[in-house]
Amino acid sequence: MALLKILEFPDPRLRTKATPVAEVDDEIRTLIDNLLETMYAAPGIGLAATQVDVHRRVLVTDVSEDKSQPLALVNPEILSKDGVEVMEEGCLSVPGYYEKVARADSIVVRFLDRDGNEQTLETDGLLAVCIQHEIDHLDGKLFVDYLSQLKRQRIRKRLLKDQKQRQSEPEAQAAGH
Ligand code: ZN
Repeated sequence: MALLKILEFPDPRLRTKATPVAEVDDEIRTLIDNLLETMYAAPGIGLAATQVDVHRRVLVTDVSEDKSQPLALVNPEILSKDGVEVMEEGCLSVPGYYEKVARADSIVVRFLDRDGNEQTLETDGLLAVCIQHEIDHLDGKLFVDYLSQLKRQRIRKRLLKDQKQRQSEPEAQAAGH
């Protein structure tokens, strides 16, 4: 397994629309394992392939407290949604920011599991919100898109500043020591 680098907003690669997986083969299973390892290490409760610059329709989640419920969804498709749930969301690609977003409270989602078998899952609350957030990533969408333009621009500016600072740090260290 391997830790993958997570792209950060406003990286334009996060806007790529992922393509469906034709067959769940060993390459996809390795991707799933790496996504899970990267998600747990971050730590996070969900990660989409788009976030690690792999533009295939694959996402992983685990909303349990003890990392006991890893779930991998390949080619996820929401069949129906119901209700409204407003939750404070964060995102590994938008580090440090948490904002309220309204989504469906319960969903029915169809997907292929890591063995390539078709599954249908009916779920609500945190897992439903998490799956909707991750499917958005596969469509090139981020939770900041639901915020006001002013808020999004502010987050964009601060993250760009952070990213610039981080890029210059290794050089400064090499020069200093
Ligand atoms: Zn996210």
